Amino acid sequence: MKSLLPGATLGVMGGGQLGRMFVHAAQRMGYFTAVLDPDENSPAGRVSHHHVRADYLDELGLAQLSGHAEAITTEFENVPAGAMARLAEHRPVAPGAKAVAIAQDRTEEKAHFTRCGVRCAPYAAITSEEDIARAGDDLLPGILKTSRLGYDGKGQARVATRAELRAAWQNLGRTDCVLEKMLPLAFECSVVVARGRDGAMVHLPVQRNLHRNGILAVTEVHEQCIAPAQAQQAVAATRAIAQGLDYVGVLCVEFFGLEDGSLVVNEMAPRPHNSGHWSIEGADVSQFELQVRTLAGLPLVQPRQHSPAIMLNLLGDLWFREAGRELTPDWAGVLALPGTHLHLYGKLSARPGRKMGHLTVTGPSLEAVRATALQAAQCLGIDPF
Ligand code: ATP
Ligand code: MG
Repeated sequence: MKSLLPGATLGVMGGGQLGRMFVHAAQRMGYFTAVLDPDENSPAGRVSHHHVRADYLDELGLAQLSGHAEAITTEFENVPAGAMARLAEHRPVAPGAKAVAIAQDRTEEKAHFTRCGVRCAPYAAITSEEDIARAGDDLLPGILKTSRLGYDGKGQARVATRAELRAAWQNLGRTDCVLEKMLPLAFECSVVVARGRDGAMVHLPVQRNLHRNGILAVTEVHEQCIAPAQAQQAVAATRAIAQGLDYVGVLCVEFFGLEDGSLVVNEMAPRPHNSGHWSIEGADVSQFELQVRTLAGLPLVQPRQHSPAIMLNLLGDLWFREAGRELTPDWAGVLALPGTHLHLYGKLSARPGRKMGHLTVTGPSLEAVRATALQAAQCLGIDPF
């Protein structure tokens, strides 16, 4: 494929915040954009040149999207693999349907990690009562996770005993699951890699992530956030995973750092990731520009981080801190702090647990960034970290 230069139209499946930031990056570089999403108020649909309002498997909608767009990507991993395959009949699609299908299924994902020589948490596939009876005692206490369609800690249950495991599997509708051993986590981190059609790869620095209630709360990216040897190991593993998929596009891999100093892989997302949002202001090439470049077949250059960065997720909970009434978070207070970059995704209503936006803090030193991020957190009602 020859590269698509600015002036061309790039398409994205899905109209959420990741699609919106992709659209912003593409438009900044002079591309036109097309979004397919059924919701007329979708964050990306609202800012795109073209918005095809259709279901993801709607033949006419898919035809309209490939009519507008000269190449197509996705912003969510649960896009039906069939839709990606359909689009690929007419247009270059990245990532490919096969990589997306593997990332959609925790069992296949773990098998891929193992093939690439990257260690994951001990686990067993749970698809029947017999699997529950057979699962090793060493997997308990553990976390039961649906193989498909989980996100932000949804579709998961922590189980201490086999009886709890049985009950949890019932609660999850006896759907295909994996039981993972609960690991003693010292920290969590992730790596964003971009791989072009020619196999060239670049990556963002390792990101240290703090989750609360199964949802990403804070990402920090600076020289002290993770030991150099572990950072190197995470980057090497991420590159091997992308290489093994013959991946084209932006891929994020999440890791657990264990108390014994070892690193195990958790999961991957075949798209930019919440933990990479800091790169919009903290690096000279963001994860969304990397997505544009890989899709358009433009050269990849290694991004350079030019400032320590801390990102705070802004969940809908911030709107409901006072019993009985919805309030608007103190945006003006936060914007009065130097080095704060506010992103709100234009979602029409706030709900607890819903990702409404994020705030990235950059500054001249880690101390300054940390102090400002803590002040911003206090101003918004986010627990200190
Ligand atoms: P995402 O929104 O990242 O897709 P998800 O719903 O797919 O999330 P996971 O990444 O599997 O969920 O798990 C969410 C969080 O739960 C992890 O980031 C980690 O904090 C915790 N967790 C998951 N698996 C384990 C484990 N085996 N041991 C300890 N903690 C775990
Ligand atoms: Mg996760």
